[in-house]
Amino acid sequence: TFLVTGANSGLGAEAAKALGRAGATVILACRTVAKAEPVAAEIGDRAQVRRLDLADLASVREFAENTGEVDVLINNAGIMAVPYGRTADGFEMQFGTNHLGHFALTGLLLDRVKDRVVTMSSFAHQIPGLKLDDLNFEQRKYNRWAAYGQSKLANLLFTYELDRRLRAAGSTVTAAASHPGYSKTELTGRTESYQDFFSNISDKLFAQSAYMGSLPALFAATDPSVTPGGYYGPDGLLEVAG
Ligand code: NDP
Repeated sequence: TFLVTGANSGLGAEAAKALGRAGATVILACRTVAKAEPVAAEIGDRAQVRRLDLADLASVREFAENTGEVDVLINNAGIMAVPYGRTADGFEMQFGTNHLGHFALTGLLLDRVKDRVVTMSSFAHQIPGLKLDDLNFEQRKYNRWAAYGQSKLANLLFTYELDRRLRAAGSTVTAAASHPGYSKTELTGRTESYQDFFSNISDKLFAQSAYMGSLPALFAATDPSVTPGGYYGPDGLLEVAG
């Protein structure tokens, strides 16, 4: 049983469908439930669509309370470079959605995860910007890319610390991270600025398919050789594709 956040679109949908084809039960944890139905229909009876809004901790809590055992949790959902906004709990939107929502979900579900927690990062984790004493951009001017970068670095740091704590506790659960290189999904074009024009062209020219982009997370979620605390991504030039 695999629980995939953001399974109604892009990489999450491709991962969910691949897992379904391989015979897994898949819980599609999605904010926009209507968009998840066609994905679930492709998987068939083993798919369950459940509502989860990672930008609202009450939703995360309610979701976790109603979830049983899963073998693998794939923390995939995310937003990128959106205009400044806040989650229901007042956190900067990208940090709150990409990291804090998944951090809370993982913590609340941890006693029911049997095998692995895989969290999606990005090569954008290298964008400078993580400021531990100003995660919400209250003391500095909002920069959409710095906010995305710090959320994706947080996804990685979370994975490493979760791995350390699981091993210290003698757990057999593996924490690993992955990134998809650059893949054509609905992630781009959300800046509400001229940048959307260029990202649209760039997507067409340089992005690999969402299916290819889903492979590193699938590898981290299923391959027996995965190293606890490992970080998996494409093996092509600059880790953009492959
Ligand atoms: P998509 O936009 O296609 O998918 C993102 C998914 O996240 C959607 O299902 C979306 O749901 C969901 N989501 C957004 N906000 C919330 C929320 N508040 N609660 C629950 N779900 C939410 O993009 P990708 O498939 O590309 O993104 C998947 C992951 O891959 C992200 O973590 C992204 O950072 C990462 N990534 C992607 C790269 C790429 O090249 N595509 C590169 C590096 C990393 P909804 O439909 O409701 O908006």
